[in-house]
Amino acid sequence: MLIYNTLKKMKEEFIPLQPPNVTMYVCGPTVYDFFHIGNARTFVMSDIIRRYLEYKGYKVKFVMNITDIDDKIIKKSNEEKIPASQIADKFTKAFFDDINYLKINSADVNPKATEHINDIIELIKKLEDKGFAYNVNGDVFFDVLKFPGYGKLSGKKIDELEAGARIDVNENKKNPLDFSLWKKAKEGEPSWESPWGRGRPGWHIECSAMSTCHLGKTIDIHAGGNDLIFPHHENEIAQSEAAFEQQFVKYWIHFGFLNIQDEKMSKSLGNFFTARDVLKKYSAAAIRFFFSQSYYGGPLNFSDDLLTASEKGLEKINNLVQTAKERLDTAGNIKSSFDFEKYYKDFEAAMDDDFNTPQAIGVIFDFAKQANIEFVNNSAANREFSENVITFLKKTAQNVFGIIDIDNNKKDTANDVEDKLVKILIKIRAELKEGKNYKLADFIREELSKLGIQLKDNKGGTTTYYRQ
Ligand code: AMP
Ligand code: ZN
Repeated sequence: MLIYNTLKKMKEEFIPLQPPNVTMYVCGPTVYDFFHIGNARTFVMSDIIRRYLEYKGYKVKFVMNITDIDDKIIKKSNEEKIPASQIADKFTKAFFDDINYLKINSADVNPKATEHINDIIELIKKLEDKGFAYNVNGDVFFDVLKFPGYGKLSGKKIDELEAGARIDVNENKKNPLDFSLWKKAKEGEPSWESPWGRGRPGWHIECSAMSTCHLGKTIDIHAGGNDLIFPHHENEIAQSEAAFEQQFVKYWIHFGFLNIQDEKMSKSLGNFFTARDVLKKYSAAAIRFFFSQSYYGGPLNFSDDLLTASEKGLEKINNLVQTAKERLDTAGNIKSSFDFEKYYKDFEAAMDDDFNTPQAIGVIFDFAKQANIEFVNNSAANREFSENVITFLKKTAQNVFGIIDIDNNKKDTANDVEDKLVKILIKIRAELKEGKNYKLADFIREELSKLGIQLKDNKGGTTTYYRQ
């Protein structure tokens, strides 16, 4: 199995430290708001990678941290005059809810930074003892020039970085590239006791400490969005390798951005949709399918059209599941020569090549097409064939991609019918309004609203709807 390793800038054979165990750490959310659908890409794709490793028989220990103390949380706490811990609690809960809606499997551990303050302090002390950290009046910094490998992940050279660095406002640092390990407490900010006085941890040290605490000093896979390569992951390497004198991570995996009109979706640019809003319009399966159709490392543009197409595309697989289930009871026993092995092999070949999900999805759709032909042409296809169809889809589309739910497959079909019925009602309502029969038109709207289906009249006279 090959994985593109950002550290080596090439695909490498995946050899975990202690097979069949695999340790995997993904940088999780900073809990100051609902997460957006761009963050969701990173969370969903890391879930698919984890699920595929499990498909291969690996025992994955999966850790995703929660950054629950950070400048952004403090800012929001000041703006809303609510304690920072309350902001963090609210959005941590929202994070778990949304992860659940997106059918992302639970992590083995979701460590919180605030619950690891002691581990963080110990790590900073170690760095200080070894001469990699310096304290200036309660602010502790990492001394980048002391760590010879600095820049090896991002490919950046220290002198180039220095030349490009903007004059840093913090005069306490020896070098503008040095970064905070411990931040001295400011008025009104949450803080903890430490050997350097009251303060709070820097962001980068949180991940080094939590990763080591739950997965050990060297881990197999560390993942996150592309924006984290520099400085976050570069700094994690510097801290962990300076402290423990051994390799921090074997394989670094980075996810491309979800863009909107070729611009990164982000909170600061304001061009984002929260995952929970997108989930009001599209199913989790369609969102996961949309992400899976493009290579995880490249950019991907978000669009309603693509999500609608994904929703539609899934019908093909769901219809096949339905047919296979029906045939389980009615099939005859004519032998089928359908080559299931070929599809498993093709699926694995695609996924083994650096998780080539678009290709693997292609294999599943090709399989669906050919299996349907077999059902149509050979109406007496046997029970074993139907079972094998279900098993293939269960192992691939369900267990790895999470884009179908075989046991609840009927529900999706019912939703489709509902969709069609609502569209018929929308048409009737438009006619009624044309004929100025507003009473009946309003009646339709109100009755649908009671069922949680909201109609929305647009300027063009067209009407869209969404479920609450
Ligand atoms: P944050 O809460 O901003 O720290 O981000 C949580 C995770 O989502 C990190 O791994 C980020 O790299 C990732 N991320 C942020 N924005 C995007 C985006 N537009 N597309 C894909 N991943 C993103
Ligand atoms: Zn991190």
